Amino acid sequence: MIGIDYYLFRIMRIFNRLPANPLCLGNQTKTFLEYFKNFDKIPTVQAIFGNKTTEVLNKLKVELSWINGYMYVDGNDGHLVISKKYLKSGNRTEIYLDLIHELCHVKQFMEGKELFDPRYAYVDRPTEIEAYRYCIKEARRLGFSQERIRCYLRTEWINDSDFERLVKTVNTSDP
Ligand SMILES: [Zn+2]
Repeated sequence: MIGIDYYLFRIMRIFNRLPANPLCLGNQTKTFLEYFKNFDKIPTVQAIFGNKTTEVLNKLKVELSWINGYMYVDGNDGHLVISKKYLKSGNRTEIYLDLIHELCHVKQFMEGKELFDPRYAYVDRPTEIEAYRYCIKEARRLGFSQERIRCYLRTEWINDSDFERLVKTVNTSDP
């Protein structure tokens, strides 16, 4: 087992390769691996895409955008949209985990799944539960404590009872 320092070091390296000024004007589009080098070497990401990992990430378009918020998979063509503000000012480890969450949605989109199925509440939606399980698996690999995982899952759009339900549902060791 390699220590958490190694992984955090790698995360920092990945982010150091981001464009020098993600806040420059206009939306920018590159492929996922151009922005996030070596992401295809992460075992949790390989667990999502299997032997197609490098191929998929080489083709996946990433748009750095002026949107507020965090990041999402575009429901029309499955490309990843990331807020420039979040990339610049967000917690890097959390951005890293968010990327893994969204990559799971990319896979679901490729499988033809409905990502925003309105029949489910957010925390009950099968696509969300699967995505959270992958990023929590990665958080555990990074050595996150239970408390830190709870902090990561705590977001402004989830109320208290939904939050407890989400923790209970996704906090298992196997995705
Ligand atoms: Zn999601």
